[in-house]
Amino acid sequence: MSEEQVVKYTGEPAKVKEVNGAWVIDFPRAFTHHHTYGKLTPYFKGLTEGKLMATKCTNPKCNISKGNGEMWLPPRADCPDCYAAMEWIELKQPIVGTIYSYTEVKRGGTGVEIEVPYYQIDIKFENCCTIPKGYLCDSRDEPKIGAKVTPVFRTENPSHTSLDISWKSL
Ligand SMILES: [Zn+2]
Repeated sequence: MSEEQVVKYTGEPAKVKEVNGAWVIDFPRAFTHHHTYGKLTPYFKGLTEGKLMATKCTNPKCNISKGNGEMWLPPRADCPDCYAAMEWIELKQPIVGTIYSYTEVKRGGTGVEIEVPYYQIDIKFENCCTIPKGYLCDSRDEPKIGAKVTPVFRTENPSHTSLDISWKSL
């Protein structure tokens, strides 16, 4: 050490390896991605409590949704038509939907941690301007278009995703 060096180095020397003539050091990093449920928190929280929450636009000047109280499911926090804040509503039991269509999924998407193959169903509700997707409790049971279904909630060991609701035939 030269006499001019007064600052003391407190770190660990990097372990250098040479790759194709270039010095390389390993510098491990860990990342935590913070993903907020934001304004949609009531929906996901509701699933863990056995509640199905939807939203509706109450703006009487909303031309597309017409402020007519048609619900959005899955909910939107703000009206896609007039951008007003939506009002939260809890669907009352018995909750009954109708299988509108379905498809067999053989390769699940990222974040859909359920065994494949399974049947993804589209569920039609009265007074609802959307047709939400879901899956049957017995995901290998081939759905029947027009069949009535009711929700089953995963309140024990929830995944905190939209997989916390499945549907069973009535
Ligand atoms: Zn609106």
